Order: sequence, then structure tokens, then C-alpha cells
Amino acid sequence: MVRDISWARGRRFDEAWVLPNSWRSAFLAFASGSHRRFGYSTDHRRLLLTESVEKPASTGHQLRDYDRLLSLAGIEPDGEAPKIAPSAETFRKIDALLDADRLRDGGSRPVFLAPGAAFGETKRWPAERFALLADAVMDGASRAALLVGPSEIELGRLVARRARHRIPILGADLDTGELAALLSRGRLLIGNDSGAAHLAASVGTPCLVFFGPTDPGRTTPRGAEVRVIDRYVHCSPCYLKKCPFGHECMEEITVEMAFAAARSLLEATPPTIPGMK
Ligand code: SF4
Repeated sequence: MVRDISWARGRRFDEAWVLPNSWRSAFLAFASGSHRRFGYSTDHRRLLLTESVEKPASTGHQLRDYDRLLSLAGIEPDGEAPKIAPSAETFRKIDALLDADRLRDGGSRPVFLAPGAAFGETKRWPAERFALLADAVMDGASRAALLVGPSEIELGRLVARRARHRIPILGADLDTGELAALLSRGRLLIGNDSGAAHLAASVGTPCLVFFGPTDPGRTTPRGAEVRVIDRYVHCSPCYLKKCPFGHECMEEITVEMAFAAARSLLEATPPTIPGMK
């Protein structure tokens, strides 16, 4: 906390937008010295914020949760899905990365599989199934790579070891803009309800997303063709980080189900980058 405050104070922000609903996040904005601090008045935070309003009921898609906050600041919410446009320089770096692993040969677009989820293990479809699915995708001649975050390198290695095909592991050392550029070069992203899926959709890459403990009505990625597999078992959505049962919500999603959905998305997406040979 002390380090975060010192980082924020050093940057002398004019405005702070407090999107988490915790008291801690509002206190950080207050301690940062920002002149204007926007946030919902949850958790006794009114005194820490300069502009606050009661949080509306969260019933629709989470993207719309902050519309009231935007209106408070005089900004008209546009209702559009988020879009990220990486710079030309970022694309150059990412294309070199893809070339090094021969993922772009002949202008091909790789399939990315993202087995992680920062939230925790309940959001993760089993690693061994990601390996089987990666093999099925690569048996069909598609190039593929695993995408992981910095804390998921071991998970990526586990999936790669279990796969029959060699599959590179990318992403752990990339920033958000670089990841967005990488994903925009993909033909399909297969992953859990995670940052990778949302980022892929924001750059227009089709997604196949496995939902378990969370609610697709709230957090299905927006911005591209998205197929959700959600088994909706007796306890879902639970939003728990540890499953008290047998993780049925994810266990009931079979490799066959996933591959059928992936194949239908791949059939609808060109295998090469338009304009490249
Ligand atoms: S409690 Fe139910 S919804 Fe939650 S992780 Fe376990 S099986 Fe899935």
C-alpha cells in the first residue's frame, strides 16, 4: 500500500477513477493527492471521493456497471464494446516474435490457447484438456501457441509437456498493448473467462470461452464473434476461488465439445492474414 501511494503521488494525477468498490482503492486515490476522485459510494467511501454516487444494481453486462459514474462526470456512455488499437511499432515487435516461432509462415494466423485465469483455479478448464485440445487443433494443420501471464509460466509448461505437438509458450513478458497486438494476429483465442479473452475480443479476434464459476451474462467478452461453453450446474455461478464440490462446472466441458465449437469458429475465420501470402 505504501509503495502504491508513493508511486501514485509521484505521478501527480489530476483525476483518479476508482473502479474497484473497496475502501482500500478509494483510500489509495485519496492518498495519491489527485484533485478529482470519482467512484461509487460503497463501503463508506464518500469522504474519500470528491465525486461519488450510489452504485446501481449490477444486473446486466459488467461493461455497463460504470455508466452511472461516467454520467456523473458528464460523459455520455456510448454503449460500444471496448476497442484497443496497438501502435505500428508494437506490431513490428510482435511480428518478429511470431516469426521466431514460425507462427506466421505464409501469412498464417495461429490459434492461441490461454489456459490461465488470474482469478484462480476455479475459472480454469483442466490443463490436460487444454493439451488435448491443442493437439486436436494442430492435427488439423493449424499453428498454435499457448498464452500465459507472468505467474502462469508453470501452467503453460504443464500444458506444453502434455501435448504431443510442440507448442510455444508466449505472453509472460508482454505488456497489455503487446498482448493485444499478438492476439489481433490470431485466428482464434480459446480460453477461460480471463483477461486474454477480453483482450482478444477487443481487437476483433474470435473467442471460444469456457465459463465455470462466473456468469456469462455479466462478463462474456464483447467486440468479436464469441462462443461460450457454460454448463450451468446446480451451484453456478458461485464466484468462489476454491470449489467446495467436484468442479463440475468445468469438468462437464469435454474436449469433444470444445473442439466442435473451435472447429466451427475456425471454419468461419480465414486461415491467413488478409493481404499476406
Ligand atoms: S461451486 Fe459449483 S460453480 Fe463453483 S466452482 Fe464449484 S462446481 Fe463450479
